[in-house]
Amino acid sequence: MLFSSRQELKHAIDTYNIKDARGMRYLKNENGRVRAICKDASCKWFIYPKRLNGEVGLQIRKWHLDHICIPVYDNKLLTSTWLGKYYVKKFRNAPNYKLIDFRKEVTLKLGQHVSR
Ligand SMILES: [Zn+2]
Repeated sequence: MLFSSRQELKHAIDTYNIKDARGMRYLKNENGRVRAICKDASCKWFIYPKRLNGEVGLQIRKWHLDHICIPVYDNKLLTSTWLGKYYVKKFRNAPNYKLIDFRKEVTLKLGQHVSR
């Protein structure tokens, strides 16, 4: 899978883990790399993308996508920035969409709680 930017890749990785209700963290950024591992040290989940030579874009080259850790229901990956990006079309198409309905939808679809 090819991603046009680090931001696009990070959003995809965050989305994957939010929907899967798993904790994840990024390793220190070396030379523009985006490397993600599970927050739980005993879990083997990881994604190591690589920048393509001579091209704009990143490709996931190494991965292990099976989490063996316990699901988290107060996922720190679920930020207002992520929610905004994920639900931007919905808000654009339904300007009268209420916050209470939005909270319900996030709880139902993602199994996560939105506090504010
Ligand atoms: Zn895990």
